Amino acid sequence: MEKQKELLSKIRQFMILNLDIKKLMNELGVEGDIYNVYSDITNTTRESNIKLYKKFYDAGKEIYYEKYGKIRKDIAWFPTIDSEKCKNCKKCISFCPKGVYDVEEDNDNVIVKYPYNCIINCNACSYMCCENNAIIFPKEKIIR
Ligand code: SF4
Ligand code: SF4
Repeated sequence: MEKQKELLSKIRQFMILNLDIKKLMNELGVEGDIYNVYSDITNTTRESNIKLYKKFYDAGKEIYYEKYGKIRKDIAWFPTIDSEKCKNCKKCISFCPKGVYDVEEDNDNVIVKYPYNCIINCNACSYMCCENNAIIFPKEKIIR
């Protein structure tokens, strides 16, 4: 369990570092192949990361978030789906980089299967699904 937590934490650090590098490159006007290599890292690792987030989900729930002073499963930030509005289009599954959504095996309905994989205070998928307003997040962001 500890090694699994460490692995997931390192991946998170790696992705944040990659984002910071791209941000700095944007500010410095670095473009073309040099920028694209770093941009490709996110896409190249996406599916493998999602598999790991799901495979080690129980470990991910136990990761301590220093800035919130809590482990992930004690931080109530994740989406819920309004089943009346959901069209089961599955866009949220392909959109989410953390593998939060999946389908129920017996009926193929989209569900929030791995809620604690959600990035704290992010609600990007609710805008992607804005035509239906089927994805709901807490009204208040989590305070540090
Ligand atoms: S929650 Fe939204 S994006 Fe996901 S399957 Fe339902 S309608 Fe599609
Ligand atoms: S907010 Fe981001 S991480 Fe959370 S479920 Fe939506 S797309 Fe996934």
